[in-house]
Amino acid sequence: MTVRIVIGAQFGDEAKGKITDYLAADARYVVRTGGGPNAGHSIHLPEGVVVLHQLACGVLRHGTVGVSGPGMVVQPFKFEEEMQDLERRGLLRGEVVLSDRAHVLLPVHEVEDGWEDDLRAKTNPAAAIGTTRRGIGPAYADRAGRWGLRAGDLTRPAILKERLELLYATKAHIPGLPPLPELLSRLSEVAGRLAPLIRPTESMLWDAVDRGENILLEGAQSALLDVDFGTYPYVTSSHPTSAGALVGSGIPPTAVDEVIGVTKAYTTRVGGGPFPTEETGEMGEFLRRTGGERGATTGRDRRCGWLDLVHLRYAARLNGLSSFAVTKVDVLGGLDEVPVGVQYVLPDGSTARDVLPSQSDDLAHAQPVYERLPGWPEFHERLKERIRREGARALPATLRRFLDRITEETGVPIEYVGYGPSRDDTVRLEPNPPPRRPPRLAAWTG
Ligand code: GDP
Repeated sequence: MTVRIVIGAQFGDEAKGKITDYLAADARYVVRTGGGPNAGHSIHLPEGVVVLHQLACGVLRHGTVGVSGPGMVVQPFKFEEEMQDLERRGLLRGEVVLSDRAHVLLPVHEVEDGWEDDLRAKTNPAAAIGTTRRGIGPAYADRAGRWGLRAGDLTRPAILKERLELLYATKAHIPGLPPLPELLSRLSEVAGRLAPLIRPTESMLWDAVDRGENILLEGAQSALLDVDFGTYPYVTSSHPTSAGALVGSGIPPTAVDEVIGVTKAYTTRVGGGPFPTEETGEMGEFLRRTGGERGATTGRDRRCGWLDLVHLRYAARLNGLSSFAVTKVDVLGGLDEVPVGVQYVLPDGSTARDVLPSQSDDLAHAQPVYERLPGWPEFHERLKERIRREGARALPATLRRFLDRITEETGVPIEYVGYGPSRDDTVRLEPNPPPRRPPRLAAWTG
């Protein structure tokens, strides 16, 4: 049996969806452990492209349970729409389960999110975070403040009304909220339809661990957006790390076998915040165009730049990564050379290699130091065919060199390489050294 965690090692959009979908082939449970409708995991199936926002990618496979876990903030109307959309397309093949402990994100939070970011920008134009305005921050704030509603409350009409009235009492200062009676009535309707899916999920997963079943924890957002360890305040409001995946599912650390960090062969970021290896000129435009770097949820252009090994070393240690999945290597195909950021020079003249400075201001003025690696050929269909036939030994030698450099610099082997958007465009490497197993806590024998 295996419990695996899939974590984004950068700022999101690394193709976690595709890698999780690839690994879901032999999983019995796939669990989304955090975030909400701000996530958008794109998966290219033979039937077309699916973008999953609040459902775990396990729902696309027969015999798999897709759990929207306790760490999430779920917008119930959008949750239902997402299910209906998949059903209409004949793609809802697995079972959908929603944790009764997941928090409910309401249209109230969406209005509040926009109001808050406008307030930041009005007070100081440089301070706008550029949130997705999907209500994530306010919903997590209400969870921490004990004002929140949980999915389990949806199935108890009296508690639902009580909790909603309490929540509204905290938001009198926010203009443009939907009237309470109208929201209550819409919520009551959707609750009736979602009720059969809402149940305790932690005990279901503990039992699955005991039975030795394969479980995949699907992270949303990414390590460098962690509310504590990311580039605060330009972060998300949850913990998209391996530790967060445990809190967001209820699975204990001693049950985990593998932690896979997903990284692109370059870097992208959406919204504000420091990005030392960003390319703002022609090269940035090339990466955006060739990589199709536009948000699946927001439609916003992503900022683009080179791979940053400071990020990857930091993410490796923070998450206890046992291996990397490196995606979108095809996007860089055909370049003469591929720069890779190896360290920063900070404003005070010191260098940073392994640890991301905690002050975003230092990072905003950090000068990256690059190593330039030889590029690899374009990924024509013939090369892709060869890789599908022969496996990783058909990867171009200069690409292997690039991958080896990542392992040399981070100590983490590469286990998967993505070379195209489709489900099949992923190859497994026989890593040398083999994937690291995160240290298990020794059993305490008294
Ligand atoms: P996620 O949120 O981390 O799952 O990432 P997104 O879905 O937002 O973004 C990844 C995008 O890259 C999607 O459009 C994928 O279809 C696409 N994609 C995934 N893997 C690859 C790859 O190896 N090569 C290319 N060219 N595109 C990929």
